[in-house]
Amino acid sequence: MKSQKAHSDMAEIILKPRKEKPLRQHHPWIFSGAIARVQGQPAAGDIVTVRAQNGRWLARAEFNPHSQIRARAFCWNEKITVDEAFWRQRLVAAVARRNALMPTAQARRLVFAESDGLPGLIVDAYGPHLVAQFLTAGAEARKAMTVQHLVEHLAPASIIQRDDPVRRKEGLPPAEDVLYGQPPATAWRIDENGHQFLVDLRSGQKTGFYLDQATNRAALAPYCAGQEVLNAFSYTGAFGLYALAAGAKKVINLDASAEALALADVQLRNNGFAAEHWQNIEADVFKQLRIWRDEGRQFDLIILDPPKFATSRGHLQRATRGYKDINWLAMRLLRPGGLLATFSCSGLVSADLFQKILFGAALDAQRDARIIRHFHQSPDHPVLLTFPEAAYLKGLLLHIT
Ligand code: SAH
Repeated sequence: MKSQKAHSDMAEIILKPRKEKPLRQHHPWIFSGAIARVQGQPAAGDIVTVRAQNGRWLARAEFNPHSQIRARAFCWNEKITVDEAFWRQRLVAAVARRNALMPTAQARRLVFAESDGLPGLIVDAYGPHLVAQFLTAGAEARKAMTVQHLVEHLAPASIIQRDDPVRRKEGLPPAEDVLYGQPPATAWRIDENGHQFLVDLRSGQKTGFYLDQATNRAALAPYCAGQEVLNAFSYTGAFGLYALAAGAKKVINLDASAEALALADVQLRNNGFAAEHWQNIEADVFKQLRIWRDEGRQFDLIILDPPKFATSRGHLQRATRGYKDINWLAMRLLRPGGLLATFSCSGLVSADLFQKILFGAALDAQRDARIIRHFHQSPDHPVLLTFPEAAYLKGLLLHIT
């Protein structure tokens, strides 16, 4: 395999003067602007040695000439040999962390890319079925090896590859495939904190389910008892199902995806919730909130869990306007003393910025908003302190008067 070259003939990246500090602090990303020159002719996905201007050894990284993030470092110890055993060990360690931190979860993220020292690799487990994403040239180059290690270590029933738009930023083609075994023919049933969900592993969004919200769904449920809940951007209605199980008076799931709501329907019936307690509405949230505002419709608790509005720095302003818009409207739709559980999964929108956006929304809505608690991604999506960019999901529970 190309990426397994002997270290002696490995290509090298020499950084510009004064550009080595982040790398010395174990930050993995090396942007094109930090590189003085590349020695040798590394191909996309090849492993390279990274050196400071003065020749000092800094790290090993995977190279990609097609990405703004020209190289991703993953090893900061010169004495460690990067071979198959190295990668296998990284994978085993990632799985061991989940076994230690969330041993009983049936559906969980086993590998979270840079946070597990495995750039670009996502592996989610849904019981015996694994869904993987290979989001960098290096992860793509190691795909066959990764599949082999997963099979040996976990003996899965199947491994499915799902695509993601971020592959395009890395110059990688669309890719959806069955990499191993026999995936389930229909939606796969998982248990999350005692609740049953149906997951479409082959064509659902992302890897089929938003595992990153698991702990937040559980944390929010007790607030829903006896309440009229609007679950906006509901996908398959996971927050709504927790709310009903906790005794919500009524739950409205609102989403633009007919497929997601169809699954929500089946799932609510399967769980035996009486039809008068829930409703699934297919509509655009921006439009529907305005319709309800004009009608004077009110709710006790609103959940806003939109998709990633900021996909690049250039879209940050537009994203900010989007977040402000839905939050301002939601504050208006709440009864006095109502609760707003509001999220952003845009990595480019920091927790600070998100709070500022909500401050602006509350001013516009002419409401007082008080922070009751903070939300972040579930523990199977951990954040290395050396790589804070991994903390993409943030949320606040606001008490609105
Ligand atoms: N809260 C969900 C995950 C939400 S993901 C869960 O816990 O599973 C974001 C959802 O927003 C997706 O289901 C997508 O279909 C939906 N969506 C995106 N843009 C939308 C819009 N403008 N109006 C309504 N739904 C939208």
